[in-house]
Amino acid sequence: MSFESLGLSHNIISSVKQLGYLKPFPIQEQAIPFILSGKDLMGIAQTGSGKTACFVMPILEKLQVEVVKRDRNIEILVLVPTRELAIQIDEVFRVFTTNLKREIKTMAVYGGVSINPQMKGMLGVEILTATPGRLLDLINSKALSISHIQHLVIDEADKMFQLGFEDELKQLLALMPKKKQTTLFSATLNDKIEEINQLLGIKPVVIEVASEEANIDHIDQIAYHVTAESKGPFLRYLIKENKMTQVLVFVSSTRTADKLVDKLLKNKIRAISIHGQKSQGSRRDHLDYFKKGDVQVLVATDLIGRGIHIDGLPVVINFELPRSPLDYVHRIGRTGRAHDVGTAITLLTDEDLHHFSVIQKKMGKTVTVKSTDEVNLHGY
Ligand code: AMP
Repeated sequence: MSFESLGLSHNIISSVKQLGYLKPFPIQEQAIPFILSGKDLMGIAQTGSGKTACFVMPILEKLQVEVVKRDRNIEILVLVPTRELAIQIDEVFRVFTTNLKREIKTMAVYGGVSINPQMKGMLGVEILTATPGRLLDLINSKALSISHIQHLVIDEADKMFQLGFEDELKQLLALMPKKKQTTLFSATLNDKIEEINQLLGIKPVVIEVASEEANIDHIDQIAYHVTAESKGPFLRYLIKENKMTQVLVFVSSTRTADKLVDKLLKNKIRAISIHGQKSQGSRRDHLDYFKKGDVQVLVATDLIGRGIHIDGLPVVINFELPRSPLDYVHRIGRTGRAHDVGTAITLLTDEDLHHFSVIQKKMGKTVTVKSTDEVNLHGY
């Protein structure tokens, strides 16, 4: 199956070629023809499945032939639960608009930053990617209107509800026209998602692709048995001995993240952290530094366990074990994405061993736990 056979035109396919995509991913193959035909669709797919391009391509395909409008009526709205995802999706729209015949203005809006530039920039925006709260603020400030929405995309719908955006979503839906195309993505299909469809008043075509859980086969998982005392030195040993140049380290709290960065810096390992108590600006900058390779280690909480893509990330280390087995899978899924090979290393103390066996059972995979007794940590 080729991109051409999905009904995408030359302009969109030029971008696909530039990005080096050889053929459509399964979700794209199945969903794009439905989205192009105007059907409501629900995709059950994880990040990493190629779901962003899956809605970006058909939306632009249809929009490029439409008449340009230069007002504050948004026609295409993508709702997302987090600022990081908003920025990431807008970047994909920008890449795909570069080869189109006409200019299409896109924008991402989210909370935690000043609203004024967002209000000023809204004129002529055709595709808006937004978090619900900031979108409502902008509507209340009369910066834009969503009464002419033609296509609504809700990404990570399940997370949207977990994070309690239900009321905001209801308010937003009441401001949109009933007749519109809706495309939803969710990592899981559960009762809550059925409720969302009722709320939206749609009976979408449902497309499900293999979940990330099923796609962790190409991630090499290793676990090491450590003590509370040897954990820090062993992490530094791993990074230095293996000459790791780009490693994402997960911890469970903001405090540990900051403490760990201090320790790594003292040991001449370039590290930076990202967590909920950092400002939006610094979260974005830190992620950029890490993506560009300016720092070696990014220490993160589960804030970026989901939904964040770092091209070709070779290694993820769980410095602390997450409580939820699903979080474990999401964390390790930051590596080995888009069919790359990746390594996921987990450090376990005695207290973690039982819980790690629960995680292994849930993901249906066995990970060998290696002893570190023989490792000489002197000097680390
Ligand atoms: P997503 O699930 O949207 O986060 O996409 C995950 C990664 O897959 C991104 O880096 C995309 O650029 C990449 N990607 C999306 N579609 C394709 C494709 N057809 N071929 C190769 N890579 C792709």
